[in-house]
Amino acid sequence: MSIAIDSMKCRACGKCLDVCPGSLIVRGEDKKAVIRYPKDCWGCASCIKECPFEAISYYLGADIGGMGSQMTVHTEGDLLHWRIKKTDGTIETIVVNKKDSNKY
Ligand code: SF4
Ligand code: SF4
Repeated sequence: MSIAIDSMKCRACGKCLDVCPGSLIVRGEDKKAVIRYPKDCWGCASCIKECPFEAISYYLGADIGGMGSQMTVHTEGDLLHWRIKKTDGTIETIVVNKKDSNKY
C-alpha cells in the first residue's frame, strides 16, 4: 500500500509532513510534498485525513484487490467521506462517522 500526492492540488502547507509517523514525506524543490520512500508507507492514512486540499490519495494496488483504484477522503464534521475512484472511472463513496471508529 502507498499514497500518491497530486502536485497540482498540493499547496505546500506542510501538514502531511508533520503527521507522518515515519517521516516519509518531504518537501520538493518547489516546497510541495513528495513521498520519499513509497514502499515504506504502511497506510496509516494520517496524511490523507490531514490534507485540507485532498491532494493525497491511497493507491490501491492489485495486492489488496484495488487494481489501481485511488481513494481520497473529505471530512465534514464527524463524518469521513471516503471516495474510491476506480480504474473504469466509476466512483464509490463510503461514509464513516469518526465517533463510531472504536465500534469495530
Ligand atoms: S499513510 Fe501514514 S505512513 Fe503513509 S505516508 Fe501517509 S502518514 Fe506516512
Ligand atoms: S497536506 Fe496536502 S496541501 Fe499540505 S503539503 Fe501535504 S499534500 Fe500539500
